[in-house]
Amino acid sequence: MRKDMIRLRPHHLLCTQGYSGNGYSDNFVSNMNEVVERLRTNKDEQIEIVFTTDNLCKSCPSKLSDGICESDSKVLHFDQGVIDALNLKEGTYSYQELISKLDTYLTSGKEDERLKEICGNCNWYPVSACWKNIKTRKYIL
Ligand code: SF4
Repeated sequence: MRKDMIRLRPHHLLCTQGYSGNGYSDNFVSNMNEVVERLRTNKDEQIEIVFTTDNLCKSCPSKLSDGICESDSKVLHFDQGVIDALNLKEGTYSYQELISKLDTYLTSGKEDERLKEICGNCNWYPVSACWKNIKTRKYIL
């Protein structure tokens, strides 16, 4: 039986690269484990890009209501950075295509300067493996 399509907001294309099992709550981690496992094991996964709360937000304690995150002042900026970098529109993409585009863009700068421009002020940035995984293409299928 076909699983529901994964809906992702743009900056979660980045978070899912560095994710290593830590998150905001047990529910959040359990849900993120499922989503990330699907992304990392199925290169044909189809993704619906949405400019609002998504499949990862749904189990997050910071989600206040549909479309509203208590960290919107930060996360909307992260989303916009990815939208601009990849020229994204809302709609369906193959995960492989999105990650290839992201990889090309992010590695076009000096070290992690492109990634830092988008989400360098995220609390996870100093402790997450985002850049290391992107640089070593750990999750590029
Ligand atoms: S609700 Fe906010 S903090 Fe939680 S996963 Fe979504 S964007 Fe991130």
